[in-house]
Amino acid sequence: MDDMMVSTAVEEILRCPVCSLPISFQQGTWRCEQAHAFDMAKEGYVNLLRKKLPGDTREMLLARRAFFDKGYYQPLASLLNELLQAHLAPVQEGPVRLLDAGCGEGYYLGNLQAQLAQRFGQVYGLGIDISKDAIRMAAKRYPDTFFMVANLNEPLPLADQALAGMLNIFAPRNVAEYARVLAPGAPLLIIIPGPRHIQELRQSLHLLNIEENKQQHVVEQFSGSFTLLETRELSYELALQQAEIAQLVMMTPNYWHLSEEIRARMEALNSLSTTIDFICLVFQRL
Ligand SMILES: [Zn+2]
Repeated sequence: MDDMMVSTAVEEILRCPVCSLPISFQQGTWRCEQAHAFDMAKEGYVNLLRKKLPGDTREMLLARRAFFDKGYYQPLASLLNELLQAHLAPVQEGPVRLLDAGCGEGYYLGNLQAQLAQRFGQVYGLGIDISKDAIRMAAKRYPDTFFMVANLNEPLPLADQALAGMLNIFAPRNVAEYARVLAPGAPLLIIIPGPRHIQELRQSLHLLNIEENKQQHVVEQFSGSFTLLETRELSYELALQQAEIAQLVMMTPNYWHLSEEIRARMEALNSLSTTIDFICLVFQRL
């Protein structure tokens, strides 16, 4: 598909981020009736932010892409595919519109869209991230997916009940908005780090700890508008060499806290075996 076709496929569910009116695509620009306008970038994404907000940097994103491209998080991608195949099926009518809220450089969404299309036919992936660098990288690699730079902590640029499903992977959570844009019965997959996630790496380098009781906190957050259908834990060991250790540190929020001491420890660490521990919470919109 070219950018024009992708835009047409998602046009009916997009809303102006300023006034919430419908927004349509004309001559390279998204425009609402009140003349709020947003240009489509040459890479095929739209920037809906009025001012630049801090997000993942290009250095973080390049580290993440290099790490993903080695397949280290492929087990999570497979689990997401399995869960969406199972939970989209009962509610799916017409085209599947799937949002990845906090999509980063697009790895999970781009791959899932292709896999889901084999079963469901028309699948339209939409990705939102606050980092323009992330969205630019995503749009270049996954031209069949529609990417937007937007803030998940503000009203989403989407119509009510627009989506058949949603992903939220190590990303901010906006309960009221996620409830608004999902169709009744639609699945919402939230991935958070489990308590043992990269624990050996955290201990070796003195990195940030995982928030305590995170899982319980998320379940409580979403309990008003969603039912928890199932909880899946995914845990495995990774044997990493120095380059991958650095990539794994750089792709996380630890990037913002890299002291001289941590850098020195990182350079001294030639190899390490560490635990990957994901928790996947499968919610359903009531
Ligand atoms: Zn508007």
